[in-house]
Amino acid sequence: MKAITFHGVSDVRAETVADPKVVDPTDVVVRITTSAVCGSDLHQYHGRGGGALVQKGAIMGHEFMGVVEDTGAAVRALRAGDRVVLPFNVSCGHCDWCRRKLPSQCSTTGRAVFGGRFGHIWGGGQAERVRVPFADHLCEKVDATLTDADALFLGDILSTAYCCAENGGIRPGDTVAVFGAGPVGLLAMQSAQLFGPARVFAVDRVDYRLKLAEEFGAEPVTLDAGDPAEQIRARTGGAGADVVLECVGHETPFTQAIQSVRPAGTVSSVGVYVEPSMGFPAREAFFKDLTLKMGICNARNYIAPLMPLVKLGKLRPARIVTHTMPLADAPRGYAIFDKKEDRAIKVMLKP
Ligand code: NAD
Ligand code: ZN
Repeated sequence: MKAITFHGVSDVRAETVADPKVVDPTDVVVRITTSAVCGSDLHQYHGRGGGALVQKGAIMGHEFMGVVEDTGAAVRALRAGDRVVLPFNVSCGHCDWCRRKLPSQCSTTGRAVFGGRFGHIWGGGQAERVRVPFADHLCEKVDATLTDADALFLGDILSTAYCCAENGGIRPGDTVAVFGAGPVGLLAMQSAQLFGPARVFAVDRVDYRLKLAEEFGAEPVTLDAGDPAEQIRARTGGAGADVVLECVGHETPFTQAIQSVRPAGTVSSVGVYVEPSMGFPAREAFFKDLTLKMGICNARNYIAPLMPLVKLGKLRPARIVTHTMPLADAPRGYAIFDKKEDRAIKVMLKP
């Protein structure tokens, strides 16, 4: 089959690789109908983590959906032909962590991610097919009322964005600032609106992304106009935002998020921190009495609860898709998403 493989910094390639097969009786093979390039793929693409994230030659991609093609003998809930979406983290569904509804901590898989390098190495979904372990637990069926663009992001960025807003504890009337108007930040703005904030600020420097943020009810704060924390304080009577959602994943926006929150406010961060440690304005955080919540999303928990919100149009993830291209064009898809060229926000790939 054709798949997108990792070869080094800014080097992903469409290659022919072996077809995945059912290995364990709880596996299925899914024929992929749509996958996407995620901001987390860019960390690998940038070589962050010194190659710790992905191996050379590995199949990329953890955001995908498709149709069950082959099932192992122990699979009960799925049949060939079922249309399914999956979370990006690989979890078993029965270890202590999974039973505590923390599948991103799964001890059976060692916190594995499709197309990544934690724990066991699982092939990714930027491919024609993918082997899915623990299939009864991982696969969520998708009915025909949802398009792929509606359903796909339930497995990663929509769940992550919603979880970021939920972790922020937004209350009606709050002022929320979202750092990053990329796919995750934009969907965090959509999600934040469900909690009834009075105002939402969108912080970024990419003008066309800030434009879409305005469509989602956010007021743009451009980094080009200076320190975003100062800008947010100036627009909130000096106080800062009640809740800050950090959706970038670097030291600078994390610092700015802490600087932008009001005393006793909450910073909720879902940006991925690849480096083992980073600077942190600890004194400011301490004297502000702030609440910090961060982490990898337990996406499996959110797929089913968020699906009706997508069906009813209360969350509109498909709105952020700017490009749909053949799988083989993924190298260009990565490049424009990375460099913010051609007004790229979210790139979907069709095998
Ligand atoms: P992206 O790279 O397209 O978006 C990041 C945006 O942040 C860009 O638009 C960029 O211009 C902007 N930005 C850069 N520096 C900034 C700053 N100082 N202040 C404000 N904005 C700034 O990626 P994405 O797909 O939206 O993903 C965002 C982050 O979410 C990534 O770190 C990704 O790894 C992470 N993520 C986390 C999880 C999770 O489970 N926690 C899941 C999916 C993605
Ligand atoms: Zn992702």
